[in-house]
Amino acid sequence: MKYLSLTDDLYSYAAKWRSDADDAVLSDLRVATAKLGDDARMQISVEQGAFMRLLVAATGARHAIEVGTFTGYSALCVAQGLPADGRLICLDMDDDWTAIAREHWSRAGVADKIDLRIGPALESLRNLEPDLEFDFAFIDADKTEYDAYYEAILPRIRPNGLLLFDNMLWGGGLLDEGLEHPSGLALKDLNEKLTRDPRVENALLPFADGIQICRKR
Ligand code: SAH
Ligand code: MG
Repeated sequence: MKYLSLTDDLYSYAAKWRSDADDAVLSDLRVATAKLGDDARMQISVEQGAFMRLLVAATGARHAIEVGTFTGYSALCVAQGLPADGRLICLDMDDDWTAIAREHWSRAGVADKIDLRIGPALESLRNLEPDLEFDFAFIDADKTEYDAYYEAILPRIRPNGLLLFDNMLWGGGLLDEGLEHPSGLALKDLNEKLTRDPRVENALLPFADGIQICRKR
C-alpha cells in the first residue's frame, strides 16, 4: 500500500507537527472563520497552509496571485512565505468575508504585501495590468471557472513557476457513477486536461481535498 487512509487521530497528529502551530493570528483566524458556521469548511487546512508557505519561500516566489480568498487564511500563509518586497494579488467578490481577511493580515503584519481586488474573478483577471507576471498562483474560487482562471493566469506565470489548484479530489466525489454536478464535472475534466497539457508538468497530491500542483514548462 502506497498511501495512508487517515483516521481522525492520525490526521490530528499530522496536523500538529508543523512550524506554524503556535502562530496566534493564524489560530485566531481559524476561530473567527469557524464562527461563520458551515461556510468555514471552505478554509484550507492547517497543514495545507504550512505547506503552501514553505513552497512559496522555497521557490523564492516574489509575485503571487490567489483566486478565492474568503477570510484570508491561504493568503496569509502565502504572504508569510513571500519576501518583504513580495506581492500577492488576491481576488474575491465578497466584502464581508474579505473584511475578516484584511483585519487578520494587518495584525500579522503582511497587509502591505497584499493587493485585494473585489469583483468577479474573471473580470479582475481580464483587468490585470498587462506587464504583471507571477511565480506562484493558488486557485480556489468557483470550480466551474477553474479552467478559465488557468487559461488567464498561465501566460503570466514565469517558466518553472507554480500553479496550485485546490479541491481537485472534490470530497472524493469525482468517481461517482452518474456524476452530474457542474463543479465535479469541471474538476474531473481539468485533472485530465492538466495531465495532457504540454505547457505544464503536474502531480495530484492526495492530501487535504486534493491539490493539483503544476509547474510551467
Ligand atoms: N482560499 C480560501 C478559501 C476560498 S473559498 C481560504 O484559504 O480560506 C472560495 C472563495 O471564492 C469565496 O470567498 C468566494 O467568495 C470566492 N468566489 C467564488 N466564486 C467567485 C468568483 N466568480 N469571483 C470571485 N470570487 C469568487
Ligand atoms: Mg478550496
